[in-house]
Amino acid sequence: MSRLLVQKFGGTSVRDVERVNAVADRVAASVASGDRVVVVVSAMAGETDRLEGLGFDMSPRPPAREMDVLLAAGEQVSIALLAMALMDRGCQARSRLAAQVGIRTDDNHTKARIEAIDVEDLNADIADGVIPVIAGFQGIGPNGDITTFGRGGSDTTAVAVAAALEADECQIYTDVEGVYTADPHIVENARRLDAVTFEEMLELASLGARVLHSRSVEFVGKYGVPLRVLSSFREGSGTLITREDSPMEQPLVSGLAYARDEAKLTVLGVPDVPGVASKILGPIGAASIEVDMIVQNTGADGSTDLTFTVRRADYESAREILVDTQKALGARGIEGDDRIAKVSAVGVGMKSHAGVATRMFDALAAENINIQMISTSEIKISVVVAERYLELAVRAIHDAFALGETPAVEDA
Ligand code: ADP
Ligand code: ASP
Ligand code: MG
Repeated sequence: MSRLLVQKFGGTSVRDVERVNAVADRVAASVASGDRVVVVVSAMAGETDRLEGLGFDMSPRPPAREMDVLLAAGEQVSIALLAMALMDRGCQARSRLAAQVGIRTDDNHTKARIEAIDVEDLNADIADGVIPVIAGFQGIGPNGDITTFGRGGSDTTAVAVAAALEADECQIYTDVEGVYTADPHIVENARRLDAVTFEEMLELASLGARVLHSRSVEFVGKYGVPLRVLSSFREGSGTLITREDSPMEQPLVSGLAYARDEAKLTVLGVPDVPGVASKILGPIGAASIEVDMIVQNTGADGSTDLTFTVRRADYESAREILVDTQKALGARGIEGDDRIAKVSAVGVGMKSHAGVATRMFDALAAENINIQMISTSEIKISVVVAERYLELAVRAIHDAFALGETPAVEDA
């Protein structure tokens, strides 16, 4: 029986006509080898950034519905080009926008969630030997409006389509050879992982590892879609995202992630009484601003400082909201810093070992990097540092856990 594959190609993989041709060669080769293929494509590299920039040049707070119409335009170009290239190779292919497929989402513009995918037409195409070439990153809301899934969201289109079609594998082709112990563009000796558990990948992705959109990883857990990250530039077996724990090796730390676009805000000298945190964070949440880390400290005078982090894009709005809160609560002041970054270490091996945090903090101390905030969960430790130390911090932690070397199972 021939395999059914969903192959997704990211922006750098279709950045120009030459690369689109290379992608078409790869898809055509899969078809020639007997596989049935459904393709998902991103906009050409840099295009979504350009469109987003235009939106913000046009309006300081562009309406989300119009932003979606604008951002979704990039993928319309690349699906047409790839379909042409496939037809030039004698394949039958048909480009499809999300509305033409029926990728149905909620109405949460710029961060919509997929609710259902119509598979009838796709299955008919596949049965007829036609390669559907689907625009990633976009969906269609309840009232027919175009929606998008958040930057990097084409991965989620691919995995959701693979789940709906019960594909044998979803292959994410990108510009690196798989998932590495850290971003290989920052850490020279980062090592490619043959496999990573879905649990770890979900943490890495949501903590900033751009290689997979975090929603796409959720589908592995929910529907068991076999997911593989591969290079569109080089042959190789890439990285398999698995549902099972690997029984062989459980290193303390499997990988590092970082997020550069962070900011922190502190409300100083708030009376230390019940309800303060909710009075401060309530209006922030009501403005749809996502709060990440929260730290509260009571000083000697009995008043408290509350610090939290938000995305850098939300910094100014959050600060404006806090000015009102400060007055209402009689707080002493507000401080902020929008030049911070978050570095995280992730590993299922942490569950059963103490001392991981200490090793991470020692590594940062040895480089004289001040830790501004810390947060932990069962399988991750995150620290906030000044943005200018981000790359140094990632490399130092990578070295401290010897992530560049093939791991031995170790005791902490
Ligand atoms: P695409 O356009 O193909 O979707 P992305 O730029 O979204 O590609 O994701 C690939 C990039 O993710 C890589 O070029 C790399 O810099 C970055 N990245 C961050 N963390 C990791 C990691 N742990 N492993 C591999 N790549 C990573
Ligand atoms: N083109 C979109 C973006 O740049 C979606 C994607 O590439 O996954 O965010
Ligand atoms: Mg991507």
